Amino acid sequence: MAADTPKTLADWQSKAASLSFETRAFINGEFVAAADGSTLTSINPATGDVIAEVASCDTPDAERATQAARATFESGVWSRCHPSKRKRVLLRLAELVETHRNELALLDTLDMGKPISSSLGDLAGTVACLRYQAECIDKLYGEVAPTGDRALGLVLREPMGVIAAIVPWNFPLMMTSWKIAPALAAGNSVILKPSEKSPLSALRLAHLAQEAGIPDGVFQVLPGYGHTVGKALALSMQVDGLAFTGSTGVGKQLMQYAGQSNLKRVFLECGGKSPNIVFADCQHLDAVAQSAAEAIFHNQGEVCIAGSRLLVENSIRKDFVARVVKAAEHMQPGDPLDPDSFMGAMVDEAQYQRVLAYIRQGESEGATLKLGGEASNSKGYFLPPTVFDDVTPEMSIGREEIFGPVLSVFGFDTEEQALALANDSDYGLAAGIWSQDIDRIMRVSRRLQSGQVFVNNWAGVDQTVPFGGVKQSGNGRDKSLHAQEKYCEVKTVWMSLSP
Ligand code: NAD
Repeated sequence: MAADTPKTLADWQSKAASLSFETRAFINGEFVAAADGSTLTSINPATGDVIAEVASCDTPDAERATQAARATFESGVWSRCHPSKRKRVLLRLAELVETHRNELALLDTLDMGKPISSSLGDLAGTVACLRYQAECIDKLYGEVAPTGDRALGLVLREPMGVIAAIVPWNFPLMMTSWKIAPALAAGNSVILKPSEKSPLSALRLAHLAQEAGIPDGVFQVLPGYGHTVGKALALSMQVDGLAFTGSTGVGKQLMQYAGQSNLKRVFLECGGKSPNIVFADCQHLDAVAQSAAEAIFHNQGEVCIAGSRLLVENSIRKDFVARVVKAAEHMQPGDPLDPDSFMGAMVDEAQYQRVLAYIRQGESEGATLKLGGEASNSKGYFLPPTVFDDVTPEMSIGREEIFGPVLSVFGFDTEEQALALANDSDYGLAAGIWSQDIDRIMRVSRRLQSGQVFVNNWAGVDQTVPFGGVKQSGNGRDKSLHAQEKYCEVKTVWMSLSP
């Protein structure tokens, strides 16, 4: 832990008490109220207390921002500036985010209830993403096509234009960085719409972006609801690309908006119901059980790649589930400001009630409750780690994305059964395999319908590899060079040459 990072609950509470909040939208280099003066209320889900009234933008604000973004894009101040300048500015932004990481982590924790240790982890990921994408700016080349002597065929990568980034609340700043870092690095103008449930860190980021030297109009932040400002951005004729992370249902709507407007490109990172497959030949069962519990209970289960379906070979299932339950018992939710809390509060009452309803449904559908299931009587929206065994694919808790701390355990006898269960899903975001058999690992990895496969780990990845899903988990890829390429158009320049 860095020397300047608060160490105790009391340290964080005192830092929280002295925190100030930016609550206005950031449009064309200025912090402004929403055009119609509307606000939305940001609530701390751990206490139910109001944190701030934040500007709630709508269509007129979206129009102002898209005009500014278009004008700055056309001016070339960022889109055509020397790549080394963009790199310098984005590296400076990474440095500023790192310097202010405690404050930014605190904003995310207060806004959406995640434990402070997890928010600090997100901040490390945010800085790493900004740095990686900045460093890539002068390392991505165009191509020279294999033409004959009479022509020169150039394949150029150019920024796409205006990108609207619409992000969720579960990793507020880190998801933001996965969108804005590659999009800005590629030379686009970017309008960020944070979730209405977690807008505070994005607004602080706007200050830092300005300080880093990102020109006015190149990076803007519009807090507000999805059905107002989010929809206005998605329908805008001035927006060339939508970078979305969120639910599959909203992702489908965004594709419709693109079709109704200008066929803007739509990159979707959506939901999941990810299978984590434990074969009987795997070793170190306690460590595997610990990982399986963390895979679902990290961030209160509010994780797109949560390992929410645990598939265990029947010969070890009883023993393995007992180990998972033992590990999970130590993951009870606590004060999000306590550095020792592994789980915090659910983001809001709606999410809390939704997860509770799934738990009641799991019981009524006949799954066996092994752990948890009851809400605490505390003031905030806390739910315990909950484990169901004997789950089948027909049950809603075995099929639908709950987005909470609920693990559904399935049994299987053969590799074929495991694969059939794993792939029996509308989603295809992540999957895990635990085994010592390399032939099996490769066979199963290839046949899993999933954007990423974790072998003998869960989510142990970094910036160098792409992140995204297949099927209804989406069509985009964040992180790695693939992310920056995705925000570029490919242009052919064909020159005729004299022989
Ligand atoms: P959500 O779909 O409700 O909202 C996501 C964003 O879309 C928010 O900013 C919201 O305001 C906006 N939005 C909502 N309706 C809109 C509309 N009609 N037009 C434009 N914008 C609109 O999702 P959420 O509840 O914020 O987040 C949870 C979901 O996100 C889960 O399904 C989770 O799996 C998914 N998620 C996916 C990934 C990934 O990388 N695949 C990562 C994190 C979260």
